[in-house]
Amino acid sequence: MRIDDLLFSQGFGTRRVCAGLVAAGQVRVAGAVVTDPTQAFEPEGLQFAVDGQAWTWYATALVLLHKPAGYECSQKPKHHPSVMLLLPPPLRQRGVQPVGRLDQDTTGLLLLTDDGTLIHRLTSPKHHVPKVYEVQTARPVEAAQVQRLLDGVVLDDDPKPVRAEGCVATGEHALRLTLVQGKYHQVKRMVAAVGNHCEGLHRSAFGALTLADGPAPGQWRFVTDTERAALV
Ligand code: URA
Repeated sequence: MRIDDLLFSQGFGTRRVCAGLVAAGQVRVAGAVVTDPTQAFEPEGLQFAVDGQAWTWYATALVLLHKPAGYECSQKPKHHPSVMLLLPPPLRQRGVQPVGRLDQDTTGLLLLTDDGTLIHRLTSPKHHVPKVYEVQTARPVEAAQVQRLLDGVVLDDDPKPVRAEGCVATGEHALRLTLVQGKYHQVKRMVAAVGNHCEGLHRSAFGALTLADGPAPGQWRFVTDTERAALV
């Protein structure tokens, strides 16, 4: 694929803008400056840099963002800035969007992608991709609350009980909850349904992906093809 087309496919602007970036010497492949916009490379997995910023070519992007508090997942946020502002313009340009939503006050692992099929697979309860939430509770966690969360609780918008795939007390005021669904405010509503209150919420895992090795709050990274294959 020509380098200008390659940049275009990754959201770096119109073909004319992309050709301009190359002609201006702002693009490197394997450390060497490329100045001919027609020069072709095998795109799959290509490592390149634009203005010194390293990138990897992906046919569709899957990005892991460590969401800080105070950002909304909506594209049209009402009260807080959108998480999209934490991503660089090429990713926004190519249309990545959150895979499900985290509330503005929730922190942790958020995936974003421009692959609609992947969004469907990752959010459909049928595919059972587990999400792990660390909950800080207002009141001490009781064994009976843990059991009720595992047995299933009824939320106000659905008569069918929803149950946690996993639930353990991790401290006097802390719970680790594993869910395979992604209903609106699900953790907060489930915790409220058993007579407690969620004071702090952090998503620590999505499938096999965790934040154990970073990125830091507010930072992002690409999910590799191997990690992606293990997700769905
Ligand atoms: N459940 C919630 O209540 N809030 C979130 O942000 C995620 C899951």
